[in-house]
Amino acid sequence: MEGVEIYSPDRETSYVVKGEKMYGYILNRHRFGQRLVRMAIDSGAILFDRTQVLGPLMKKKFVNGVLIRNLETREKTSLQSSIVVEATGFFANIRKKLTQEIGIDIKIENEDIEACYREIRQLRGPLNNRNLCQIYIAQRVAPGGYYWIFPEGGTKVNVGLGVAMNEDFPNPKEQLYKYVLSQPMFQRSSIIDKGGWYVPTRRPLDSMVGNGVIIAGDAACQVNPIHGGGIGPSMMGGKLAGEISIEALERDDFSREGLWDYNSRYIREYGAKQAGLEIFRILLQEMSDEDLNYGMQHRLLTEEDVLNASLGKDVHFTVSDKVQRVFRGIKRLNVVRKLKNAADSMFEIKEWYKDYPALPTGFIEWRAGAKKIFQKATVQLTKY
Ligand SMILES: Cc1cc2nc3c(=O)[nH]c(=O)nc-3n(C[C@H](O)[C@H](O)[C@H](O)COP(=O)(O)OP(=O)(O)OC[C@H]3O[C@@H](n4cnc5c(N)ncnc54)[C@H](O)[C@@H]3O)c2cc1C
Repeated sequence: MEGVEIYSPDRETSYVVKGEKMYGYILNRHRFGQRLVRMAIDSGAILFDRTQVLGPLMKKKFVNGVLIRNLETREKTSLQSSIVVEATGFFANIRKKLTQEIGIDIKIENEDIEACYREIRQLRGPLNNRNLCQIYIAQRVAPGGYYWIFPEGGTKVNVGLGVAMNEDFPNPKEQLYKYVLSQPMFQRSSIIDKGGWYVPTRRPLDSMVGNGVIIAGDAACQVNPIHGGGIGPSMMGGKLAGEISIEALERDDFSREGLWDYNSRYIREYGAKQAGLEIFRILLQEMSDEDLNYGMQHRLLTEEDVLNASLGKDVHFTVSDKVQRVFRGIKRLNVVRKLKNAADSMFEIKEWYKDYPALPTGFIEWRAGAKKIFQKATVQLTKY
């Protein structure tokens, strides 16, 4: 894919966001997973198929294995290990059963989760643009989220919708059927695959390691908070977890300190960008459809801003003093103000993340500082 095309709620304005680093790939997720499993087995891994992890085993304040159940025989077994890498996706069956003293956040807030539903559909007619992923923002249709139409090759599309799990959030499947699949392009189309799930759309967990344990992927909230893409960053987290495990085995140190580099390296490579994008997400969720139409139509937010934001670069949202003067006194000044506040907060949080502590000492202070920046940004972006 060459990039994304983002539509305003009234669909009057669209931004095409392209660029060298915006290239993406459409793949068959199931077959891709099977290929990775095959590669792991070929490299010497042992696969326990049809096996459920029930939770972590603990000894002397260390995670030292997992309790598993064979789904065919129902037999439970304890597996001992030096390090447990949790990669069980959104439900995070190990993380949720850890004790507070391990130092990893167990719970994440509902407002940071998107409930999604998507179908793979075979269309009757041709697609307009087969090289761009289309994203439609509209609070009325997908409150706190968006709906998407991604080409899957030929006349196949991936069409889905995600909503923020705030109070009284609507059912994403019902919204998709009511507002999207009712559009003429889906007439007489057929379903190839369907399903719903949850996506954490926030910054990564402040710490993703504890004594004897590393958390990767959705379980560690390693997802892009804007577009919900988590396959790439989850693989990045998984690879890093492997590298850190090798280093820990060589040093024979499986303590939180010994594994801490996983945090620092992930945050440097992707986590700081996620933190900036979480603020961008709050901004988008707080803007009404009218504000979004207005902001996009008048290019208060440009394609370049969106590209820079998604690449983790600094954004300015073209809100110069001059623009502010022009808009002063008019109804939409709050849009301008919100954009400026968001740009400032995104810069501030990314700077803060550059000082992520190299060791657990200083972590508590760092985390308190990050929380303060998010709280301030949330107040600024939600108060008008
Ligand atoms: C509707 C929808 C559409 C999406 N579209 C995209 C997209 O287009 N592009 C993109 O990049 N990302 C997309 N994502 C996000 C992406 O799917 C995830 O971020 C990514 O799959 C996370 O990888 P993971 O390995 O951490 O978790 P998962 O892919 O969820 O894998 C977790 C694995 O652990 C297993 N498991 C869970 N619990 C247990 C247990 N107790 N015992 C044993 N095994 C267990 C599961 O069976 C599963 O195989 C989408 C998500 C949703 C919900």
